[in-house]
Amino acid sequence: MIFIQRLKKSFGDNKVLKGIDLEIEKGQVVVLIGPSGSGKTTFLRCLNVLEVPDEGKIAIGGQTMDFSKKVHPKAIAEFRRLTGMVFQGYNLFPHMTSLGNVMEGPVTVKKESREEAAAKAEYFLAKVGLGDKLEAYPFQLSGGQQQRVGIARALAMEPNVMLFDEPTSALDPELVGDVLKVMKDLAEEGMTMIVVTHEMRFAREVADKVIFMDGGVIVESGAPDKLFTKPEKERTKQFLSMIQ
Ligand code: ATP
Repeated sequence: MIFIQRLKKSFGDNKVLKGIDLEIEKGQVVVLIGPSGSGKTTFLRCLNVLEVPDEGKIAIGGQTMDFSKKVHPKAIAEFRRLTGMVFQGYNLFPHMTSLGNVMEGPVTVKKESREEAAAKAEYFLAKVGLGDKLEAYPFQLSGGQQQRVGIARALAMEPNVMLFDEPTSALDPELVGDVLKVMKDLAEEGMTMIVVTHEMRFAREVADKVIFMDGGVIVESGAPDKLFTKPEKERTKQFLSMIQ
């Protein structure tokens, strides 16, 4: 349901993605690992078209973007709705309540009525365990709670795929578990997810496939059992020995 072909992205002379090919099936959870600067964030941002790739194709749920041709901003905006992005730093609107933050996209982008959007926002906030924090402002919430609002906000747009960019790395350790639990529940419900994370336990328990990226290419990928215990490539072994 996701096909990525020869995806390339440079910033000036810095070739960050050097031709990524990847297929992901509906309902799969893919965890992306790799050293700092290997292009993980850029890859997610290209899928969400926050960065416009230089070359290559991305197809999600039957809609295709071919970046070797000029792409229209309207087409980008439409394609972006297929993916929901959760950022490391939550990026909530500080002057809006949880409910307001989650309603914003559906009302402004999807043109839903406020009633409809509020009902849906309530549903998704309850789903991430914040049914009692609808009227709270971000400053009244812990980092973990803010991140769960961030997840509810992405879900409210009803994307085909959820993209998580190090969703727990800014959190105090005791708050990480709640966020990972929400992500695990989503995975169990069949959500297609691509997750950049350093949480290897999550990768082992939840991922269908782990991808090791380095230097803008996919070095190796496989089921977590295989990749973590019997990596084939020397570079993967080296990286795993540093983090485990
Ligand atoms: P980390 O684990 O540290 O977040 P990463 O694997 O996610 O790293 P990226 O953030 O994708 O790596 O960065 C890859 C390279 O692209 C880096 O050299 C970075 O400086 C560069 N880069 C990323 N975004 C931009 C940008 N908007 N403009 C210029 N260079 C950028």
